Amino acid sequence: MKPKKADQLQVEKLSTLIRTHSYKYHVLDEPEIEDSEYDVLFQELLSLEERFPELLSKSSPTQRVGSKPLSGFKKISHGSQMLSLDNAFSIKDLEDFDKRVKERLAIEEDVEYCCEPKLDGVAVNLFYKNGALDKAATRGDGTVGEDITHNIKTLPAVPLELLRNKEVTTIPTSLEVRGEVFIESSEFKKINKKLEEEAKKPFANPRNAAAGSLRQLDPKITASRPLKLFIHGYGGSDSPHEEIPNNQFEMLQLFKKWGLPINPETETVRGIKSCIEYFSKIESKRNALPYEIDGVVYKVNNFNLQQRMGKVTRAPRWAVARKFPAETGKTVINSISFQVGRLGSITPVADLEPVKVGGVTISNASLHNFDEIDRLDVREGDVVIIKRAGDVIPQVTKVDLKDSVKRKPKIKQPKTCPSCNGELFRDEGAAALRCLKGQECPAQLVEVIKHFVSRNAMNIDGLGDKIIRLFIEKKIIKSVSDLYKIKEEDIISLEGFGPKSSSNLIESIKTSKDTSLQRFIYALGIREVGEATALNLAINFNGIKRLMEVSKEDLIEINDIGPVAAGFIHDYFSDKNSIELVNELILLGLKLSPPQTDNSSKFSGKTIVITGSFTSFSRNELKEQLIVRGAKVTSSISTKTDFLISGEKPGSKLSKAEELNIKTLNEQEVIDLLN
Ligand SMILES: [Zn+2]
Repeated sequence: MKPKKADQLQVEKLSTLIRTHSYKYHVLDEPEIEDSEYDVLFQELLSLEERFPELLSKSSPTQRVGSKPLSGFKKISHGSQMLSLDNAFSIKDLEDFDKRVKERLAIEEDVEYCCEPKLDGVAVNLFYKNGALDKAATRGDGTVGEDITHNIKTLPAVPLELLRNKEVTTIPTSLEVRGEVFIESSEFKKINKKLEEEAKKPFANPRNAAAGSLRQLDPKITASRPLKLFIHGYGGSDSPHEEIPNNQFEMLQLFKKWGLPINPETETVRGIKSCIEYFSKIESKRNALPYEIDGVVYKVNNFNLQQRMGKVTRAPRWAVARKFPAETGKTVINSISFQVGRLGSITPVADLEPVKVGGVTISNASLHNFDEIDRLDVREGDVVIIKRAGDVIPQVTKVDLKDSVKRKPKIKQPKTCPSCNGELFRDEGAAALRCLKGQECPAQLVEVIKHFVSRNAMNIDGLGDKIIRLFIEKKIIKSVSDLYKIKEEDIISLEGFGPKSSSNLIESIKTSKDTSLQRFIYALGIREVGEATALNLAINFNGIKRLMEVSKEDLIEINDIGPVAAGFIHDYFSDKNSIELVNELILLGLKLSPPQTDNSSKFSGKTIVITGSFTSFSRNELKEQLIVRGAKVTSSISTKTDFLISGEKPGSKLSKAEELNIKTLNEQEVIDLLN
């Protein structure tokens, strides 16, 4: 069947809508519709394009993960050279830079600089042809890079087509822009946690994770990683001179209008004093930024002045990167030990002679896995350089061979578990070793119980790490269910216990028996089952017995549960030991109240957005309370939102709600309505 004119118009309309909403979400950070509404638009476009392949254009928003895996990377020449930056390591270096700029330009007045944080990411070069993304390349040697077009297309923040709207009437027939691809720190932690749980090799830092995700032959892998991008440089275009702004800052604003994301911290300042102030401002914000940065980039703002200054071989004379002082230190490895995780993975850890790095005393560092130990050739007694970046666990970056005399033998991989002596296994393709003894392994049992009693799980007070270890050592608990068999006389004579503390503990264990189904599911510590998934399961199954009998297919049917998580959940409830444990806990008197959807509540059937922080509950606790009362909690304000619940420091959502005339509730009003 041939497409009608109406079909063609609909495809164009949907593509424009999807592009616009994607821009509002990724570039402006002001989403206007719900993710689910976006999905509906996307599906409609997809099905039209399937029906009428002739309507499918190369830059359609559906074409992000279109290409098949490649067999290798092609080389691409950049239109103009991608320069690297000179570094300034002190205020004096920065002042010298400013002096050189003035000397070369033969001016005495203060120079205007465009400043932005320096991201620790991967540099890329994008080419747009007639407004459509044509090619993307890595930096390579600055002149020739690798073709990563297939992967760059999977980044939701990269427009496949530049936006045309009222504000921008012309788009250059060719355009080259430079940017930095990065992964946010929180996403980096999630990726590594997942890799570790799968006993795969974690990434050393967010930059490695971004580079590794970008340099994939299969774009599906890249698409699965939460990569982001900021554009920071102009490579050239064939537009008439008068259409291109004459300075860096306005150029960036034009990029933004075209739909290219830029760093919101970018500012212009005049004179060296303001440059130093900007640096202090960014440095104090550093840990609060969602991504890792390693300094600030200053560029002479005016393009004409830039041109007058020129470049030296590979670095421009008109820009400099002022780096943060390196947070590294030098110390001795006292010993290397092996930690056993909750799911059995073995992580080598370096015990360090305590050293101060960036104002924090560090006494141990992760060595990740044995590949990493081999790579570093690190041994006990070595003098090593350690690095602390953001709030990531400190790492050993290298061995100082000059200072490491009389080296001890290489570290050997343990053959058996350091805790239970059980045999260790290596999953296929995985870097980490695993002990498969489960709760029979004391180290794993400690971690399992720690998780079980934690605040968001069974919430048992008074059971810290030390006490759990003591109970396991004294054979008072051999499994999770033993917690509910502890009697006062078992513990009253133990070190650190008296009549009061032992009866308190027994009481708090008893109190925990009355709990919710979702907390219990979360407490079991099933792989891939966090709090949100646990609540989701509780709402869908409404009873532990039903969940225990569910098929994998039924699990996948549930929104937000993917095949991998479904597999782990199903495996867990098919395992003899888990079934026994759950049944025993119920026999011991655990009462699991299913989430009651309360239809009489004021919140029933309402769509609610939460913003800011609260004193009486966490956002998660509030969300749970609302879902239980039949509300739908979403992340962005739209015309469909019924209430915005606004706590301390609400951010942009509050003004958005006021703009759309959406009713706002404060903490006290919510508490009143919940009761
Ligand atoms: Zn073990």
